Amino acid sequence: MGKYPLAITPYYASLIRRADKTDPIFQMCVPQLAELNDPPFLSSDPLEECHDMPVPGLVHRYPDRALLIATTTCSTYCRHCTRKRVAGTRETTISKRRLEQTVAYLREHPEIHDVIVSGGDPLTLSTEHLEEVLASLRQVPSVQIIRIGTRVPVVLPQRITEDLCAMLRKYHPIWINTHFNHPYEITPESSEACTRLADAGVPLGNQSVLLRGVNDQPQIIEQLCRKLVSIRVRPYYLYQCDLVRGVEHFRTPLSRGIEIMEYLRGRLSGLAIPTFVVDTPHGGGKIPVLPTYVVSQSPTQTVLRNYEGMLIAYPEPQDRIAEPVDAPSDVSAPSVWDLAAGHHSHIKPAQATRLMRREAHCSVGPLPETF
Ligand SMILES: *Cc1c(COP(=O)(O)O)cnc(C)c1O
Ligand code: SF4
Repeated sequence: MGKYPLAITPYYASLIRRADKTDPIFQMCVPQLAELNDPPFLSSDPLEECHDMPVPGLVHRYPDRALLIATTTCSTYCRHCTRKRVAGTRETTISKRRLEQTVAYLREHPEIHDVIVSGGDPLTLSTEHLEEVLASLRQVPSVQIIRIGTRVPVVLPQRITEDLCAMLRKYHPIWINTHFNHPYEITPESSEACTRLADAGVPLGNQSVLLRGVNDQPQIIEQLCRKLVSIRVRPYYLYQCDLVRGVEHFRTPLSRGIEIMEYLRGRLSGLAIPTFVVDTPHGGGKIPVLPTYVVSQSPTQTVLRNYEGMLIAYPEPQDRIAEPVDAPSDVSAPSVWDLAAGHHSHIKPAQATRLMRREAHCSVGPLPETF
C-alpha cells in the first residue's frame, strides 16, 4: 500500500490461526485497507511529541522523566502503532552525536531521574549498540532508572538471549515495559523470554492498547492480565487508542475501557489490574480514567461503592482539619494538586472569551454601590 511499512517476524506470523480479520494476531500485523480511512480529527503526532523535543529524539514532557527514541526500526510493525510517523518510515538508529547531545541535555537537567529508551523497538539494536546507549545514559548520575519499551518479547522472543540479559544486568536498575495485547501472544516462547529477563533481575511491566475486534472484551483482558502475572509481568497500563492516523478502525469508545475496568476490579487481584489511561491530544499527557467509586461526600462522610454495588459510608477523621501535606509547591506554575492543597486558589485558562472580555473592560473599575 506504500504508506505504512510492513514487517512480521516468522515467529509472530506462526501465531496466526486464521488468515482473516477474525484473528487478533492477523489484525495486529497484517495491513488492512481501513488504515487509509482517516477522519479529519486524526493527526500523525496527536501527542505533540515533536513539540516537546529539546533534542531531536528526546521527548521531555513530564518533570522527572524523558523518553528517548533510539531507533525507528521494529521487527514487526504493529498496525495500531501510535508512532506510525516514526516506526519504519526510514530505518535509522541513534547516532553517536545524537547520543552525546542527549547526555548533555540530561546533565543539564538533573531533575530527570528516569529515561525510557523507546523507538521503534530498541531491542532491534545490536546488543553492542544498545549497550552504548545504556552506558552513555549511565554516565549521568542523576539518571536513576532506565526503562526499555519493547515489543520484542512478544514478536521476537528468540532475541532475548542470555547474552542480552548479561549485558542488561550491568546497567541495573533496568526496567522493561513490554506490549502484550492478547492472551494468544503468551506462548511458551514469549513466556521463556520474560522468564529470562525476570531472572536477570529486570522488573517487567506490560502496556496494552485497547483495540476494537482484537481485545475489547472484558474476558479477553481478564485472561491476558491473569496470564501476564503468571509469567511475572505486571499489567501496567491499558491505553485508549491514540488519535493517530491509520488506526481509526481500531478505536473503541472511551466507555469500553471504563466497562472493562469495572469488570476487572474485584474479580482480579490489584496486582493484575492495569491503569486505564488516555494519552490525550494536544500533549496533555496520560490521564487515568476510572469508573466512579466516590458516590457522594460530606464533611463527615464519604460514600463509596464497591464493585458489587455495596454502598459504604467512610467516616472522616473527627477533628477534620487535618495537618496540611508537607510537599514543596511551585505556586508560580500551580497544578491541580496546588489547588487541593490550598497553596493556590485558582487556575485560569489563558484564553477564555469571558476572561479576555473582562480584561478589556477592567478599566471600568468596581460597580458603584448604588448600582
Ligand atoms: C508515557 C510517557 C512517559 C512515562 O510515563 P509513566 O507514566 O512514568 O510511565 C514519559 N514520557 C513520555 C513522553 C511518555 O509518553
Ligand atoms: S513495536 Fe512499538 S513502535 Fe514498533 S510498531 Fe509496534 S507499537 Fe509501534
